[in-house]
Amino acid sequence: MYHAYSHYVIKNVELWTERGVISSVDLEVIDGHIHSVEKDLILTKGAHVINGNGWTLLPAGVDPQVHLRVPGQAEKETAGTGLLAALRGGIGAVLSMPNTKPTIDSIEVCEAAVLELEEAEHMTGVKAYLTGSITQALKGKSPAPYEELAKWGVKAFTDDGLGVVDDDLMRSAFKASALTGLPILQHAEFPGHGGVLAAGPMQEKLGIAPYPAAAEADMVARDINILRDYPKAHYHVLHVSAHETLELVSTAKKQALNVTCEVTPHHLWFSSDDIVDDRTSFKMNPPLRGVADRAALRHGLADGTIDFVATDHAPHEASAKGANFKTSAFGTTGLETSLRVLLTLVREGVLSPQRLVQVFSSKPAQFLGIDKDIGDISKGRPMAGVLVDRQSASIITEDDLYSLSKNSCFLGEKLDGKIQAVFLADRYYAF
Ligand SMILES: [Zn+2]
Repeated sequence: MYHAYSHYVIKNVELWTERGVISSVDLEVIDGHIHSVEKDLILTKGAHVINGNGWTLLPAGVDPQVHLRVPGQAEKETAGTGLLAALRGGIGAVLSMPNTKPTIDSIEVCEAAVLELEEAEHMTGVKAYLTGSITQALKGKSPAPYEELAKWGVKAFTDDGLGVVDDDLMRSAFKASALTGLPILQHAEFPGHGGVLAAGPMQEKLGIAPYPAAAEADMVARDINILRDYPKAHYHVLHVSAHETLELVSTAKKQALNVTCEVTPHHLWFSSDDIVDDRTSFKMNPPLRGVADRAALRHGLADGTIDFVATDHAPHEASAKGANFKTSAFGTTGLETSLRVLLTLVREGVLSPQRLVQVFSSKPAQFLGIDKDIGDISKGRPMAGVLVDRQSASIITEDDLYSLSKNSCFLGEKLDGKIQAVFLADRYYAF
C-alpha cells in the first residue's frame, strides 16, 4: 500500500504552510526528514523523484475528535478501516474518543486499545492517541483515575457523547487538568430536552422535539464559571454548533481564561436548511443549526475564536443509523472529507491557505503536544505532508469512503480537491 524511499524529492510543488504560500519549490526528504526546501534543487543520484507540478503540498492533518470505536465496536469501525479513512483524508494523527466497549477509563482498557491499534498504525503510518473518560464508564457519577491515565499517556479527558452535568465532577476534572496539564474536552449538552434537530421546518414536519442551542451554551457558561476557580486548568469545548456558545468562548478568551474550542466540517458546510428529507446521516450531536450560526462558525474559525477543526467522525453500522430520525443513532463520518471541505472554503474566500494549515494541522498538533512530529513542513523536521490537486472537484460517493461505515452527510456534495498522496516519514502513499 506504500513505497518506502530513503531519499525522495517532490519537484515543482506549491507549498502551503502557516507562514504562507510558495508557488513552486522542490522538497528533498532523506531518511524521513526534510533535508531541503528550495527552488531548482540540484538532483543527486539515487533520489526518487515525484513530480508535484500543478499540485499543492501542505502539512498532513491532525484530527482531535474521532470515534475510532476501539476497543470493542468492530461492527462500526476497526482500527484498520478508521486509520485508513484518516490516511485517505490526508490526516496523519487522530485523537480517539473513549466511548468504546468498554469505556476507556482504566489502564487495562488503554492497553487493549493499543493492542488493537498497533498493526493499523504500522500499516497506515497514522498515529492514534487516546483520551480517557472524565467519569467512570461515562456514568457521570464518579471520576476516572485521572493521574494513572495521565501517567499512562492519554492526551485528554472527555465524556464525549454526554455532557458532565454534576458541578462537583467538573471541579474534580479541572483539578486533574491543572495537575496533569491535560485538557478537559466537554461535549456541552444539558440533557432533558429530548430533541434531535434544531427548531425548523424539518423538525416540525417530523414532529420531534427541538434541540435548543441553550442545552449547549448553558453548559459552557456553567463550565467557564467553574473554571475561574482553576486558573491552571484547560477547558476545551468540543464541536461548537451555536453562535451563543461562540460568544461565551470569545468573552472567556478576552478574559485570558484557558479556553479553546473546535468546529466540525459539517457545521461549517451545512445549515439546518439543508436537511430536506429523512437522511439519517444528518442526525448528529450537536445538530446543524441555522445559516446565521453557520456564518458565525465560519467567521469564528477565520478570526481565531475557534481554534481548529475536528471531524467528530462517528461511524455506525447501517442498522444503528435506522430508518428515520427518531430511531437513528447520532453521528456522521468525516475523516475522508474534512480537508476537501476546507479546500473548498479556501476557494470561496472563507479561509486563507495559511489559516487552513493552522486549523487542519498545526493548531491541533500543538493542542495534543505532537507539533514536533506533525503540523509544519520545513527543513530539519520529520516529513508529514499531503499532496492535493486543488483544481479537481468531484461529488462525494461511497467510493470516496474508506471507513467501515458509510453514514457520511457529505455523500452527494461537490467538494474541491483530489488527495493524490500522503507522505509520512520515508513512506509515500500514492492514491
Ligand atoms: Zn460529542
